[in-house]
Amino acid sequence: MTSDNHTFDRRELTGPFDIIGDVHGCADELEELLGLLGYEVEWSGPDVAVTPPAGRTLVFVGDLVDRGPRTPDVLRIAMAMAEAGTALCVDGNHDNKFARWINGANVARSHGLQASADQMAGENPAFHARVRKYLAGLPIYLWLDGGALVVAHAGLKEDMIGQSGGKVKSFALFGDTTGEVDGFGSPVRRNWALDYRGDAAVVYGHVAAPEVQAVNNTWCIDTGCCFGGRLTALRWPERELVSVPARQVWFEGARPLSDRIR
Ligand code: MN
Repeated sequence: MTSDNHTFDRRELTGPFDIIGDVHGCADELEELLGLLGYEVEWSGPDVAVTPPAGRTLVFVGDLVDRGPRTPDVLRIAMAMAEAGTALCVDGNHDNKFARWINGANVARSHGLQASADQMAGENPAFHARVRKYLAGLPIYLWLDGGALVVAHAGLKEDMIGQSGGKVKSFALFGDTTGEVDGFGSPVRRNWALDYRGDAAVVYGHVAAPEVQAVNNTWCIDTGCCFGGRLTALRWPERELVSVPARQVWFEGARPLSDRIR
């Protein structure tokens, strides 16, 4: 295994893709959204099989876990589809921290990790092992469709496309942080998308807002489902948005969803 890249270069995959924003344990909404996109979800006890519409591939922007009520089931869906070769997922900052927690690191159970820990307590060691292995293999971002599409959890700068290493990983996980913290205790971020001029479309999540933020060939599709917003998919290459409303507010953010645009 080389550095931290985990095969981000998947330009040979041409889709079509259905790219899903931050799920954060909201399995009810994920199942509903998959249904709208034409995927068939069949549970058999704890096992799940998901059948995509012919030829389509699901891509998660990361942050599968934390805050919502069904993190293990979201992982079951993502892992079953990964094993069947019908879904890809990039690493998100929550998945990354959850992976450190499940591998025994002493991390703060803040920002919704406590909910995941409580839910995972009901799962057996074999499931824990499967999750550890799955999360360890997530790529830092994905470069798809002949180079025309990038999926990265918090976005990616043009000069980072095709690159790997610690700086690229940090940007893909956390975005363009300044190192400062705002009055809500959240990292101060620059909006890198305003300066993006790349030919590749960049689809990302991480910063929840009530509406999809489409700027300069970039799409932020985190519409804050766990905060009571919506779960959104971007269909590629159609560039169509499909979303479902949250069933409820699953997690109270430090600030209102409407203020989270930045
Ligand atoms: Mn997130």
